[in-house]
Amino acid sequence: MSRPTHLESVPEHRRAPAREIAAALTLARRIVMTTHVNADGDGLGSEIALLHLLASQGREASIVNPTPIPERYAFLVDKVGARDLSSGAAAAIKAADLILVLDISDLGRLGNLAEQVRARGIKVACIDHHVSPGTLPDGPRLVDPEASATAELVYDLAVEAGWPIESDAARALYVGLMTDTGGFRFGNTTPRVLRLAASLLEAGVHPERLYEQVYATAPVGRIRLTAQVLDTLVVEPEFGLSWVTVPAGALERHGASADDLDGLVEFARSVQGTRLALLFRTLANGKVKVSFRSTGDFNVSEFAHQFGGGGHAKASGASIDGSLDAVQQKVLIAARAALLPSR
Ligand code: 5GP
Ligand code: MN
Repeated sequence: MSRPTHLESVPEHRRAPAREIAAALTLARRIVMTTHVNADGDGLGSEIALLHLLASQGREASIVNPTPIPERYAFLVDKVGARDLSSGAAAAIKAADLILVLDISDLGRLGNLAEQVRARGIKVACIDHHVSPGTLPDGPRLVDPEASATAELVYDLAVEAGWPIESDAARALYVGLMTDTGGFRFGNTTPRVLRLAASLLEAGVHPERLYEQVYATAPVGRIRLTAQVLDTLVVEPEFGLSWVTVPAGALERHGASADDLDGLVEFARSVQGTRLALLFRTLANGKVKVSFRSTGDFNVSEFAHQFGGGGHAKASGASIDGSLDAVQQKVLIAARAALLPSR
């Protein structure tokens, strides 16, 4: 097993919170980890890294997610798949003595697990980098919106706790950093993220292999779905507004899942002159999910709040009640109004 030849030092303000989480994880006997609905590379990478880190400390943990692990990340789960107890969520949560929520601070984003987590009545620890007031039950927190990814905070936790970051954990952490920074391209690509990535490469991560596994290999349905969604592009250059819509039934037609839509909103965002890009889709629960992305100074986290959503300044989302048409009209009217004054 390789290990990093250097470790990045942990920012001072994260040290005490990291130690508090490490202490809670060390004391717990049955740890259940979870993340937001439609887990992404950061939520999953953080969970899987922690499974490996905790196993190296003789701790038993399992994953209980509200939605299945996307096929794209199956390779990450290969050695720890047996610890995915999502299909027996209720029993696993009941047996847990510590719940650790990763990559989200809001109970509402835990989907059908929210009520079980709330009602369990045990400490709920959280490691997250979203801007959020946080609505989880009480417990230790390692939350810092300045972190590029939750995986960055898990790295800090490992360093602070003195847990060695071996190759499997390193790979999962790298996937978290890579996906949340859009392949080390978004505004959250800090010097520190790149130093962390370097340290993970020293621990045996193969960047090209991970790029291929996460981004450069796709089921054909994802490509056909992409074509269909891109065909819906509408651009309003006078507002700097662009949006795409996932046609009703398109996921089913292409045997695709929500994960196959990951990154599609970037096409709308990339239209020259776009300040706000949107992607609309109907969820299985009848709500409409809107993804918000911005270029420049438009704050989509604030914009998403009026719809009960949130996220980051340049990438946020919301799940809104109503028909696709009605939600689209409501959001577009608010978007045009918000985009106009500062022009
Ligand atoms: P995406 O649009 O890719 O689903 O999400 C982009 C960002 O917005 C992520 O950081 C995600 O956590 C956040 N986000 C997405 N949907 C919601 C939502 O319904 N509520 C909140 N609070 N945040 C969301
Ligand atoms: Mn994240």
